[in-house]
Amino acid sequence: MYYYHIALNIPIGLLTYAYSEPLPEGRRVLVPFRGRQALGVVWAAGITPDIAVEKILTVAKVFDEEPLLPESWRALVDFAARYYHYPVGQTVFAALPQALREAKAVAVPQPEMLYRLNHRGLSDEPPARAPKQRALWQALHQACSQDALKKVHPQAVTLLKEWLQRGNIETVQAALPPIPPPVHDLNAEQRAAVADIVGAQGCFQAFVLHGITGSGKTEVYFEAAAHMLRQGKQVLFMLPEINLTPQLLQRLQQRFPEVPLAVLHSQTAAGQRSKDYLRALLGQAKLIIGTRLSVFTPLPELGLLIVDEEHDGSFKQDSELRYHARDLAVWRAYQADCPIVLGSATPSLESWHKVRSGSYRLLLLPNRAHSQAQPPQIHILDTRRMTLEHGIAPQLLQMLQNNRAQGGLSLVYLNRRGFAPALFCGDCGHTFGCPNCSAKTVLHQRIRQLRCHHCGFRQPVPHACPDCGNQDLTAVGQGTQRIEETLRRLLPEARIARVDRDSVSGRHDWQHLYRDIADNRVDILIGTQMLAKGHDFARLNLVIVVNADGSLYSSDFRAVEHLFAELMQVSGRAGRAESRGQVWIQTRLPEHPIFAAVRNQNYPLFADSQLKEREDFGLPPYIFQAAVRADAASAETVQHSLQNVKNLLAPALPDKLHQFGPAPMLLTRLEGRERAQLFLESGDRKAVHRAASLWLAALRDNAPHGMRYHVDIDPQEM
Ligand code: ADP
Ligand code: ZN
Repeated sequence: MYYYHIALNIPIGLLTYAYSEPLPEGRRVLVPFRGRQALGVVWAAGITPDIAVEKILTVAKVFDEEPLLPESWRALVDFAARYYHYPVGQTVFAALPQALREAKAVAVPQPEMLYRLNHRGLSDEPPARAPKQRALWQALHQACSQDALKKVHPQAVTLLKEWLQRGNIETVQAALPPIPPPVHDLNAEQRAAVADIVGAQGCFQAFVLHGITGSGKTEVYFEAAAHMLRQGKQVLFMLPEINLTPQLLQRLQQRFPEVPLAVLHSQTAAGQRSKDYLRALLGQAKLIIGTRLSVFTPLPELGLLIVDEEHDGSFKQDSELRYHARDLAVWRAYQADCPIVLGSATPSLESWHKVRSGSYRLLLLPNRAHSQAQPPQIHILDTRRMTLEHGIAPQLLQMLQNNRAQGGLSLVYLNRRGFAPALFCGDCGHTFGCPNCSAKTVLHQRIRQLRCHHCGFRQPVPHACPDCGNQDLTAVGQGTQRIEETLRRLLPEARIARVDRDSVSGRHDWQHLYRDIADNRVDILIGTQMLAKGHDFARLNLVIVVNADGSLYSSDFRAVEHLFAELMQVSGRAGRAESRGQVWIQTRLPEHPIFAAVRNQNYPLFADSQLKEREDFGLPPYIFQAAVRADAASAETVQHSLQNVKNLLAPALPDKLHQFGPAPMLLTRLEGRERAQLFLESGDRKAVHRAASLWLAALRDNAPHGMRYHVDIDPQEM
């Protein structure tokens, strides 16, 4: 008998099974588990069992027709499991597409064949009265795919079969597809960026490609990808779900018409996704485009990774296996000895920090690629001494009115992030920070308290501003829900379209909206983040941001970073075509440094000042964090158990580790459960991982019945 560790979709980890024959690692098998047959993956062979061998069950079925899950993929899964403190078996299943998780064999996709006439075929010309057949015959002088032949003759498949039987045709393996040159001549900066990326071929190097929207980043990705594809390499191109638009797919198809593509995102039909996954695994698919989940695609010939909009929050998964696809992508590049490009108009501060410390290389595209397109003009409107109409300044209403009269399209942008209610002084701008840490406190109206969601500090709501004595303290995050009604009432002639997850979701809805806009049936769009990304509206020339301030009072230290990214992104929507776009941002904190940077569209200025602040306050990326989160039916249970374990562990934890909390989560109550969290922080990454392991072990032993918990490494949510 041979013994194996098999990965199953269970939290207890790997189980030992026996089989009478040698099995390779990475093989899918069926094993008996709790009275049924469960799918597993051979994770380690040649095991010396540490339990009595007569108790070890036997593998029931081996899917030996299927390709193995390759070693590089298993190493990735092992790393993700270890790094994110998640059971290996469950990580395996999170990384596999549906069909490969099921307990039955999958169809193995066949490599695409090309067909061409052999000697016999060349002399067997179809008669002149069959011109279409002749055209097909003519085409077959060169090696062609079935798809290409179908375009020549609708019955190509039938005829091909006939001619194959007649012995007139030979098959050849698909060669490297030809890739046409770029549509535009790349400008000097684009060429330099491509040269740097291509120059790193065969070595690990991370690049940050920084350029505003429209600066030509996508063309750089395409050109670098083309180079790698011509070498027979595979390219993984990751982007946020919302950026995977029909426009982009069309652009890809134009640039890489014959390259075998795989498109992997959550909306891809399960069957297609599994097939594409296998095509990638077998090296048949060369260009793999997908959202965060595509980071787990097995890629034996990986030559380049691209992460577009690398700062985007959707690369982080916030359930089950809580991974960051951008970070795993960098790990993959390292593992595969290849370059990776992280592109953004507003790189994450984590990536920018690595640029400044010299481990990532910066590639800059300083201008818009389109010579006519000018960057938008950004204005900051100080509303401190203004009377607003339900949150909008009168002159902005006037602008909306005028723009409509002149046939322009306007966007009223609502920032929905960072809306934990906070208290501030409308006179002097004082905000209420926690005395123990660098976080701002959150206003809990019902119990009249300010609370720190980082360390748990609490105090009653003060009656006056400690700085200036003003007794009229204001809560932010209010008065914007009614923007749409206000606009409809004040601008009755304007045709207003609201764009959010409820009103526009499917592709069909987008097409509808595009048509309405193209046909001039919309004057004003009202929307949130959804509108900031990916979608281009040529006529859009005025953007108004009414409630940016919420983020500046947020208890989440990342809120300012996110706001900057959003403001840059939404500004980029204005005037992508000919006319210069105007952007107006109203604020009661005009002196906040973010606005100078936004007005000048100066990301480095912003990023460097934010990094300085993060360093001063001891925040990521200068320290490492893990969040321990728990929820239960009662708040006391959660608080109490976390506090218990905290005390219990204190003596065992590494010296350089700090524990903050437990504190309630921003969204304290969700689906009837009370949620709390605790932060593990240290300048030493290993200390955080060690503490996370200790916490998980202690919770396993001590968590009360009915309490759920998890650890989130490098948490993004506060
Ligand atoms: P980004 O990805 O940075 O938003 P894109 O690559 O999409 O920028 O380029 C923006 C627009 O400029 C696109 O319409 C693109 O076709 C065009 N473009 C890109 N590079 C060039 C170039 N070198 N010359 C002319 N137009 C270009
Ligand atoms: Zn605090």
